[in-house]
Amino acid sequence: MSDIHESPGAQDAHTEPAHIEPALTEHDWTAAGFATRAIHVGSDPDAATGAVVPAIYQVSTYKQDGVGGLRGGYEYSRSANPTRAALEEALASVEGGAAGFAFASGLAAEDTLLRAALRPGDHVVVPNDAYGGTYRLIARVFGPWGIEHTPVDLSDLDAVAEAIQPGRTRLVWVETPTNPLLTVSDIAAISALARAAGAVLAVDNTFATPYLQQPLALGADVVVHSTTKYVGGHSDVVGGALVVADGAQLPVGLEGPTGTTSVRDAVAFHQNASGAIAGPFDAWLTLRGLKTLAVRMDRHCASALAVARFLEDHSAVTEVIYPGLPSHPGHELAARQMRGFGGMVAFRTTSEEAALAVCARTRVFTLAESLGGVESLIEHPGRMTHASVAGSALEVPADLVRLSVGLEDVADLVADLGQALA
Ligand SMILES: *Cc1c(COP(=O)(O)O)cnc(C)c1O
Repeated sequence: MSDIHESPGAQDAHTEPAHIEPALTEHDWTAAGFATRAIHVGSDPDAATGAVVPAIYQVSTYKQDGVGGLRGGYEYSRSANPTRAALEEALASVEGGAAGFAFASGLAAEDTLLRAALRPGDHVVVPNDAYGGTYRLIARVFGPWGIEHTPVDLSDLDAVAEAIQPGRTRLVWVETPTNPLLTVSDIAAISALARAAGAVLAVDNTFATPYLQQPLALGADVVVHSTTKYVGGHSDVVGGALVVADGAQLPVGLEGPTGTTSVRDAVAFHQNASGAIAGPFDAWLTLRGLKTLAVRMDRHCASALAVARFLEDHSAVTEVIYPGLPSHPGHELAARQMRGFGGMVAFRTTSEEAALAVCARTRVFTLAESLGGVESLIEHPGRMTHASVAGSALEVPADLVRLSVGLEDVADLVADLGQALA
């Protein structure tokens, strides 16, 4: 009502505000930059109210105008929901993909992709330091259903080529940087190897985020996310996503359940048929997080580098693992393949006891699993996030500590680690 004070005539019924014809068509954001797309794609102001943020459509079903007369294509919320659709559209845009799919968790997204791309008897190449839950899913859930796997060091391209079994390997799983050892692998080079073998290339982009790394542009067929982490960014929601490249094809020789060879069709079918979807409120929180991803990642990267440099000079630390340090074996590749080096730092101490002691003593870094939120977290992978891979090829060193460097003042973060290591 501020114009009442600014213009004495505003209450006069004959004084109409100047009327400017609004743009009738939705704006085309395809040429816009990353942050602009993250904020606007999927978030057109609501046609009925002008609300600038998509509503939480907390609804299961939709009135049909006569049998099959769907308004906007909505029928039942497992199949599609407007809040989830807003998130899926935004995710597809920021990853440069043809379609996005939002799930109840990162592992639900992975499970859906594995069902869509694999059949009993197939073989998968997995990173030898993959996220523990990914490895557990492939080895202990899909294993008994007839899927074999080979763990391999993805930073060794000869080893990747050797692990691929032509005619049997249907999927190559890449995670870069990996969790927790931050190994960097060459997406474009592995894409060429997967393509030559007729296999699908999936890249878990959770650690890098679409802001720092664009796997589809480097030849990946599908990007996988735990949106629980940086995309959500506030440690308040669990979610997952798949984004499929334009024209991505199922493994050579496989026809999907809808009779096509398109990965997009197969994932869409499986998302609805298995139903591990993101709920409306979770989708809304995740979309809210995505809108600030770019500014958050800039700060995560800057603070992580400062923390890594501090640790490098500390006598109680035997090794600092951060792709932004020239000492990291993947530093040059990461500089080429990524816009920044991310917010995750790992370091080794002198013993398991020393690692556990540091985790117990920090006050600003909270001892907790997960990562990618505004608050800094510290954890002991061997006993916590990666306990499920103890005794396997993916076992992590016992003296390893993992940090998710958050958005607090970096001086407070460095001081906290200093007192914890003292
Ligand atoms: C957390 C995580 C997952 C699993 O996601 P959830 O949302 O916990 O199911 C997958 N990959 C990576 C790299 C992760 O950090």
